[in-house]
Amino acid sequence: MSDCLFCKIVKGDIPSTNVYKDEQVIAFRDINPAAPTHILIVPNKHIDSVNMLIPDDEPLIGRLFGIAKMLAAQEGIAEGGYRLIVNTGAEAGQTVFHLHMHLLGGRQMKALG
Ligand code: 5GP
Ligand code: ZN
Repeated sequence: MSDCLFCKIVKGDIPSTNVYKDEQVIAFRDINPAAPTHILIVPNKHIDSVNMLIPDDEPLIGRLFGIAKMLAAQEGIAEGGYRLIVNTGAEAGQTVFHLHMHLLGGRQMKALG
């Protein structure tokens, strides 16, 4: 996906503040943080959204949670609590159509709505 922002970040064509990278996943700080910790956990492979997942992607999705757990501990927010969000579709507020998980923490969260 040559015109995809997060594919460009995965390739290193757009700079990002990375906190994790392996052959399947990259994690970097959100450019417009909504909490003291706001990290995006992103599969290197382009997937538009949860709507485009296939059964073969399930280990990769599990891996996103494992990395979220590891990064929450690294950020010092595991004990206090944190929120994992995967916006799916425009009505949910998805603006970048390359699947990603938000890791948010470091402040009291409000109820969902
Ligand atoms: P979404 O709204 O699709 O769930 O989340 C997209 C997120 O990507 C937003 O929180 C937005 O601030 C973040 N974002 C957009 N462009 C960039 C960028 O160029 N670099 C980084 N690090 N984050 C970005
Ligand atoms: Zn992409």
